[in-house]
Amino acid sequence: MKFYSLNRQAPLVDFETATVLGQAPDKGLYFPEYIPQFAYTVQQLKVLPADELAWQVMQPYAGDCIPEVELRRIAAESISFPFPLVKLTNRISTLELFHGPTLAFKDVGARFMSRCLGYFNRHNSRLVTVLVATSGDTGGAVANGFEGVEGVEVIILYPSGKVSPVQELQLTTCGHNITALEVNGVFDDCQAMVKQAFMDADLTGRYQLTSANSINVARWLPQQLYYLLAWQQWQYDMPPVICVPSGNFGNICAGMLAAKSGMPAHHFIAACNANDVIPHYLLTGLMKQQVAIATISNAMDVALPSNFVRILEMYDNNKVALRANLSGASITDDATRQTIKRVYTETGYTLDPHGAVGYLALHQYLQAIPGTKGYFLETAHPVKFPEVVEQMTGKAPGVPEIVKPLLLKEKRSIRLAASYDAFKQWILAR
Ligand SMILES: *Cc1c(COP(=O)(O)O)cnc(C)c1O
Repeated sequence: MKFYSLNRQAPLVDFETATVLGQAPDKGLYFPEYIPQFAYTVQQLKVLPADELAWQVMQPYAGDCIPEVELRRIAAESISFPFPLVKLTNRISTLELFHGPTLAFKDVGARFMSRCLGYFNRHNSRLVTVLVATSGDTGGAVANGFEGVEGVEVIILYPSGKVSPVQELQLTTCGHNITALEVNGVFDDCQAMVKQAFMDADLTGRYQLTSANSINVARWLPQQLYYLLAWQQWQYDMPPVICVPSGNFGNICAGMLAAKSGMPAHHFIAACNANDVIPHYLLTGLMKQQVAIATISNAMDVALPSNFVRILEMYDNNKVALRANLSGASITDDATRQTIKRVYTETGYTLDPHGAVGYLALHQYLQAIPGTKGYFLETAHPVKFPEVVEQMTGKAPGVPEIVKPLLLKEKRSIRLAASYDAFKQWILAR
């Protein structure tokens, strides 16, 4: 399988090159040359063992760059934790994606990508430096996924005081090959510093820089797997309406790819917060200009979602066909808070703000279309957003066993001013 750039001004590459480069030289996103079809009926898909399923799905994309035994191991390790589909009401279930090592769905993509890079770098010819800016979840998943991977070092930039305590511990306690830079600024400062580093010849000449953001094919493609694991647990005759809390649209784009490859889905909903460029586009056909708006579901505070071009490509830019499969919704912070409260009161289930956006968008859609049922993705554990959750439920969210050891560890970060020069000085002086 080859991958082409959506800007169409760069050569075709294989999976390895697409993974190492992240973005094509013409700044386009990589897209698979064709969309493979699953070699199973929808009933066979239901009973395939998870590890076999994972390998079968990833094989067409990565199989010509990674030998079968290695790819089987990498795929299995990427989903080595539970993905339960939990019924909340007669019509609404939730796919819990927060049982991974950093309680984030991003664990799946980060684990897959880190292990691929580890394999590609097996002869240790040159150290790969992964540079990543995070507003919270990405950094933790990447740090954890890459911890101890030989030949790869990871540098994470995060905004001081702007991530939750659990998120900060996830970023700052790995040690080894992971360095956390605590920037005196906001997420956009971190992002700008990383972007500038990729354009700085002094750095690119000295380091093999790689990004680990959600546009990387090795993070995007394995996200299909949990939609299929949800299908295995789906109990109803009619295929599910699938609602995805969306920021950069990598997650929903993976679900829609799985559907194109043969997974049953009735409809997709992109659930957004006030950052509603795509819901607005789906409604009006117009792409508006917007700057990112800060909300309580902050992992989705993205002004212009990068992965949406991949969704357009999947539909050959046919808006009518796209709208038949995809709707958007924009949920306010106030409605998000009220949803956390109402769902807790009515069902006893504790949502995090991102899941609450998903719940309400799905609820609204199902109300309008009788007879439908669906699930939304719960993309974060509520313990990552303790303040708003406690405010709305009256109860502090429980701390899962998997993060308890984390609370005993010591934070290690390097403080940095929010300036590119400060970053450059630091990285060159090491
Ligand atoms: C990253 C993230 C999202 C958004 O996912 P995209 O793939 O960027 O759309 C949603 N919720 C949480 C908790 C996240 O960390």
